[in-house]
Amino acid sequence: MKYKVPRGTRDILGKEMLIWNKVNNSIEKLAKLNNYQKIETPVFEQTELFKRGVGETTDIVEKEMYTFDDKSQRSLTLRPEGTASVVRAFVENKLYGGRLPVKLFYNGPMFRYEKAQKGRYRQFYQFGIEALGSEEPSLDAEVIFIGWKLLMDVGIKAEEVKVHINSVGCKECRTKYKEKLVEYYQDKLNNVCSNCQTRLDKNPLRLLDCKNESCGKLAEQAPSIFDVICSNCNEHFEHVKVYLDIFKVPYVIDKRLVRGLDYYTQTAFEYRNQNATSTQDAFGGGGRYNGLVEELGGPLTPSIGLAMGLDRIVLALLEKEQPQDSLEFFVACMGDDGVNRYATEIMQLVREKGYSCDKDYGKRSFKAQMRLADKCNAKRAIIVGEEELNNKTLTLKNFNKGKQEIISLEQLKQQLERGSLSV
Ligand code: AMP
Repeated sequence: MKYKVPRGTRDILGKEMLIWNKVNNSIEKLAKLNNYQKIETPVFEQTELFKRGVGETTDIVEKEMYTFDDKSQRSLTLRPEGTASVVRAFVENKLYGGRLPVKLFYNGPMFRYEKAQKGRYRQFYQFGIEALGSEEPSLDAEVIFIGWKLLMDVGIKAEEVKVHINSVGCKECRTKYKEKLVEYYQDKLNNVCSNCQTRLDKNPLRLLDCKNESCGKLAEQAPSIFDVICSNCNEHFEHVKVYLDIFKVPYVIDKRLVRGLDYYTQTAFEYRNQNATSTQDAFGGGGRYNGLVEELGGPLTPSIGLAMGLDRIVLALLEKEQPQDSLEFFVACMGDDGVNRYATEIMQLVREKGYSCDKDYGKRSFKAQMRLADKCNAKRAIIVGEEELNNKTLTLKNFNKGKQEIISLEQLKQQLERGSLSV
């Protein structure tokens, strides 16, 4: 029996992991700079939370959830996204009672039963932020900025990504907009895909972001929310644009961009990869959800959130760079157990002083140990044999400079403490 990872999942290791580490470090730094606190929620929740929080008519809830009964017949679901869980935590922990907005971020695996392909997986990773408790348009701009800045910080170039923004209005103007859309599509139903035919009644906004070619053409000609937007939502949108300029985020207005759920309000945005050749072109996106906290049992709390697809960001970076790990020291030893013990002692000393260090564990020849040091991309080698053991000395070799020197163990200790090596 040969075991394989389940379809749509994969192992992350080697060079790819170096990029993940870089991305994760950038996330932590960026979140801290902007005063977002980390939250961990369970990877599974009550199924009902997602039905309510994501929406019954979404693809996620209709087709993509990993739902199971536990041994006590409770229906649980692996989280398909992060917002519902964070909002549940916000309500359950009564965070609305403190200083608002509450600014949170998460970073972890999500699960959707999707058609697995490059850039689309069944277990994938999202960094998300949620800012709960303010309708200030500068907060919308801050959230949009953070997604954009993450892309810049990890090494995506400004010309490689386009920030699309739109407004989906509020309950009032969206109701009018939906009527307009239904009217527009009424005599065009033969020209849209079967999915869109059934969506028109339940969720007409979703017709606008259908990836089907003929649906796309019709969507281009469809009425815009800005034909019917109320003055409050329009003003909000105008202010968001002003703040985006202050945050120096370049953007385009895209009237086809929607978040198709009822409690999504006003601002919607997405980051599109300009180099993407497939439909998996979104690095991330988000929007305002002024109605969601109430929907999930909390007080009225206008909020906005963002989710970035880390797998896609890492994929884009892997196409641009080949990162290499490196090691500060490699200890090579030639001799019996006594020498090996001496080498181990030195290795531990070096590590204690804060330098990465490794050695051979396979009793290899000296030549093979040097090859191993090279494979580890070691900057320096510490070479020990019988003589060094007896004299408490070592040979320090700098690979880049091609120089080496015999020093005492005591000297090595002092040099490491000073942070400057003689070779
Ligand atoms: P969404 O909340 O569905 O808009 O997802 C936000 C971001 O997560 C998307 O823009 C993608 O970058 C990423 N994402 C969503 N679903 C997947 C998936 N199945 N595989 C990989 N990345 C995904």
